[in-house]
Amino acid sequence: MSRGEALFAGDTHVGLVRSGNEDAYLVAPPLFAVADGLGGHQAGEVASSIAIDTLLEAAPRVAEAKALGRAVRQANSAVISAAEQGRGRSGMGTTLTAVMIDGTRLAVAHVGDSRAYLLHYGELQQLTDDHSLVADLVRQGRLTSEESRVHPNRSVITRALGSDPDMLADTFEAEAADGDRLLLATDGLTSMVPDDEIARMLAAAPTPDDAVASLIDATLDAGGNDNVTVVVADIGRPASRARRAAGSPRWGMRVLWLVAVVAVVAAAAWIANAYARSQAYLIDENGYVAVYEGVPGTFAGISLHWHSETTTLPVELLDPVIATRLREGLRVDGLDEAQRRLDQYRSSVATGTAPVPGQ
Ligand code: MN
Repeated sequence: MSRGEALFAGDTHVGLVRSGNEDAYLVAPPLFAVADGLGGHQAGEVASSIAIDTLLEAAPRVAEAKALGRAVRQANSAVISAAEQGRGRSGMGTTLTAVMIDGTRLAVAHVGDSRAYLLHYGELQQLTDDHSLVADLVRQGRLTSEESRVHPNRSVITRALGSDPDMLADTFEAEAADGDRLLLATDGLTSMVPDDEIARMLAAAPTPDDAVASLIDATLDAGGNDNVTVVVADIGRPASRARRAAGSPRWGMRVLWLVAVVAVVAAAAWIANAYARSQAYLIDENGYVAVYEGVPGTFAGISLHWHSETTTLPVELLDPVIATRLREGLRVDGLDEAQRRLDQYRSSVATGTAPVPGQ
């Protein structure tokens, strides 16, 4: 497929194991997207196609990442209300990875474990972070990326469209170069074919059509355990593929800038984690008092709490004010303080006197 000087292609395949295809994709230059539906019994198919349709309707006119992120949030609302109205079913969801291209500039909005890659001067760069359990473990250094590809829980995703009305998409812009090649893919490709093979095939294919075909063939050769969807778009003028320079100082500056941002984010995450580890809270869990290290709820989509202890102390025997606060999580300064509160509650239950609500 081509339009003017832009070259792009997309295709999807059910694979060799699944009975239905719950993936969907969009090739509507300058907008490209892939979605991987979840939910089974055709519900995933409904979720991914609603997401793609809504994205196309709501997409901004210009390649602006925040605006594209708002379109992804509209797609999220559309999936949620469809389930409420009985289209598909409750619990259905979908990933959505969307890119708008403006010349060599890319605007990206992304939720889930589908991926955007850029073949930049012949080198494959993963642009998006997976919102998945195994990606979290890799980021924590508890799993290598090779191990994550075959991990039994590799398909557990931590963020998707269709459940949280306040869901946020990752949004960012990136500067590519003339002759670069953009790849969007669902995990059906990336869980079956290693990155270095993906890079080799992307680089070797003369056209995006060829690239899409060889990536899908490689997935099926590897077993085709999942639905697979691939979108490829060439950036800039195709003629420049042959005469591109060996390096770009502009890109280099952007990489430095990105490294600085990543360092700041990593430092903030470390500080948040260290703070959370110094905190604790008691909470009503199925009618019993439970103790957690950390802080309740999530921060920027990340939960910073770790289960410490579930007691046999029924919340209903406690002072009603305390019981109410336990429903939200009663925060205290550390696990020792949590234990003191627990002892206090236990003795109050034993003596039949309600303890004084904590400050
Ligand atoms: Mn999949």
